[in-house]
Amino acid sequence: MLRARKRVAVEVEKHSPLRYPHRLNFYDQPPQGEITIEEFEICALDRLRILAEIESSYARNRPWDELKKYTLEQCKKYLHLDASSATLQDVDSQRRKDHIGHFVLRLAFCRSEELRRRFVKAETTLFRIRFEDDDRKEREDFLQSRQFSWTPVMKDEVEQYAEQLKAAASTYLPPKDQVDLEKEKYCKVHWTRVPDLIEKRKVFLRHGMAYVPSKEQASIVYEEFQRNLENALLVTLKHLPRLDEDTRIVPLLDNLSQGFLAGVSSEWASATTAANGDEITAEMIDELARKHFPMCMRHLHDTLKRDKHLKHFGRLQYGLFLKVLGLSIEEALAFWRRSFSGMTDDKFNKEYKYNIRHSYGLEGKRANYAAKSCQQILLSDQPGPQDSHGCPYRHFSLDNLQTALLSMYSSQGLTVKDLPEIVAQVKSGHYHVACTRVFEITHAAEGVRKGEGVGGGESVTHPNQYAARSRELEKKIKEEADGDITMS
Ligand code: SF4
Repeated sequence: MLRARKRVAVEVEKHSPLRYPHRLNFYDQPPQGEITIEEFEICALDRLRILAEIESSYARNRPWDELKKYTLEQCKKYLHLDASSATLQDVDSQRRKDHIGHFVLRLAFCRSEELRRRFVKAETTLFRIRFEDDDRKEREDFLQSRQFSWTPVMKDEVEQYAEQLKAAASTYLPPKDQVDLEKEKYCKVHWTRVPDLIEKRKVFLRHGMAYVPSKEQASIVYEEFQRNLENALLVTLKHLPRLDEDTRIVPLLDNLSQGFLAGVSSEWASATTAANGDEITAEMIDELARKHFPMCMRHLHDTLKRDKHLKHFGRLQYGLFLKVLGLSIEEALAFWRRSFSGMTDDKFNKEYKYNIRHSYGLEGKRANYAAKSCQQILLSDQPGPQDSHGCPYRHFSLDNLQTALLSMYSSQGLTVKDLPEIVAQVKSGHYHVACTRVFEITHAAEGVRKGEGVGGGESVTHPNQYAARSRELEKKIKEEADGDITMS
């Protein structure tokens, strides 16, 4: 995490009321002025959470309404944009954050064709969701503020092609309704600008021009947004070498793009604190692992029990996870000592105790180390054949993964029938989506439905988030049961 409040030469607009008149933005101009590295990073990370969730929604084949609902929930949390009429809110600050985040991500995602393609798809989806969700008046003001280079179709031309226009309308209107050509407003654009409407035969075509009814004009707007962004990313790519020497920004951009490629946006917010404030003890870990751990931690726990030992990266991944779960240093020392039952006290004290205390910030630099996020586990310190750290969804063979899933989670409701869906996500590289699906299946008895993820449709981005949510659900069920007993 970059903490320095140094100024970077990124131009950002100085804040002033209603500098951004519209909630919707085509991002034609880069931000102007100065921003701090921290702001640069926060704006990008918060936007990335939303784009990563959009990608996850596509990977999970969510219907459009569901994708929109979950994306809007994420936007509310991380990138809320109020209407211009919300006079009590600082709408300009919200829009400035949106503006900066978009441009930082352009820098991060212009660098390969794969990244550009995925970024354009996620950004165009976000724009479409906001466009559909915007209030009608503000949306019209926005459309009028731009030149969309479409030609209005005059009344006499509408009359001339009335029959063809009615025939095209029959594809998008219910059979009982007829298009009212007196009221309907059409515009003409070159057919290449509305490929989706052509594909669905929703428009009348003549001399290479598509006649688009008002209801479908949004398609032109989305297509133009997408085309502009594709071109802008190529322009950004050309200018990127100038940034190569900036040692503050380049690692940050690398981190952002790697996270997006791994399908995971960022670290879970509570990664350095105990998940729900409850301390846990060494005795509780066996049971917690069985009920609440994601596969990566369950595998480390099982390996530790079997081998009475874990290699360095495994200890690091598991130890920090347990720390954030609420295991105090005293309990951690007791847990690891008991787990390494095949060695003498002397060896344990000499070779392991220091490292355990170090991870709690009690030795060396005395830093408060955060537990590793899915992004870090998926991308760094790749495990070798003898290692047990890493993410099983990514690092196990498909055969081993399926066997391990059944052995770990069949007591929580996972069956052979669930495997093809999980394997399909793994094959397409959406490891955390596979993990999220396993969470949903193994918590179905607690009322978690497909698509809900770890709450509000969110996907798993951190092992501690998985465990914390799982424990929360158990606590809730218990409280409800206790309430029922008291009532009766
Ligand atoms: Fe662990 Fe994350 Fe992999 Fe799930 S997706 S197993 S939480 S690293």
